[in-house]
Amino acid sequence: MAASTIAVVRNVETLRRQVAAWRAQQQRIGLVPTMGAIHEGHLALVRAARAQGDRVVASLFVNPRQFGPSEDFAAYPRDEAADAAAFETAGVDLVFAPNVEEMYPPGFATTVQVAGVGEELEGAARPGHFAGVATIVAKLLLQCLPDAAYFGEKDYQQLLVVRRLARDLDIAVRIEGVPTVREADGLALSSRNVYLSAEERHAAPLLYRVLRDSAAAIARAPEAVRAILEDGRGTLRAAGFAVEYLELRDAETLMPMARPAAPARLLAAARLGRTRLIDNVPVALGMALGMALGMALG
Ligand code: AMP
Repeated sequence: MAASTIAVVRNVETLRRQVAAWRAQQQRIGLVPTMGAIHEGHLALVRAARAQGDRVVASLFVNPRQFGPSEDFAAYPRDEAADAAAFETAGVDLVFAPNVEEMYPPGFATTVQVAGVGEELEGAARPGHFAGVATIVAKLLLQCLPDAAYFGEKDYQQLLVVRRLARDLDIAVRIEGVPTVREADGLALSSRNVYLSAEERHAAPLLYRVLRDSAAAIARAPEAVRAILEDGRGTLRAAGFAVEYLELRDAETLMPMARPAAPARLLAAARLGRTRLIDNVPVALGMALGMALGMALG
């Protein structure tokens, strides 16, 4: 493979200068924040940005503040040369790859904390995680000032947290969600899938299968949510998953739903060995409820 020739920028000032030059030419800019170990899921975000704008900035930054003390910050896969080459092939114009000092210089003291949607599910399972995410994403948005920024539905709660913070802080950017890219067997692509042993990799697609089957079952029988989810958790446990949560939530607020109603989202986190997998699917409740109502009305 030929060496990559894409511009890799390390500091905020150079990023700002380049983006300002593009903007002076009336070009629309899309930002794709990532932690690297680039795969087709990340590249789907790049393609969405390409399709909607003139220039694409992709960031590579393994953000220490979003990892818990016992999480995999040190072990997180890093390969900047391969990532830059993948970005270049997908049509990225500029890679922003700052070091930790550039993002958190001495004296750094500000944290962005998103209450509500940031406190549920992953927020409860990983204390401090979304404060780390919200702080770095706010910084990236303000450093780059793109027209739009692209986030994967794979991390559905993160997408909602980012939407909330952009709205609350009046950051003039469109936040675009991109559907999850999956392996042929359904496993959501993730940089952390490299941690899976051969045996775990074989079992891993069950998470998506259970989500999809449970969502379909809930759409057919919204009154049986509790039993359907208990069943789903049991199926995962029997296959060796340690289930953290499998829950039906309001798709916009992520609050628990007293009664199933649209729009709803089914979200799960489970460990396979030392690897923590998350995934989620929409639930087509509207149709089931509409049909039930139609039947009730005769
Ligand atoms: P990460 O590098 O894991 O922080 O992810 C960077 C961005 O890529 C986030 O917006 C993720 O939601 C998104 N992403 C990760 N995996 C996928 C996937 N399988 N499909 C779509 N987007 C993804």
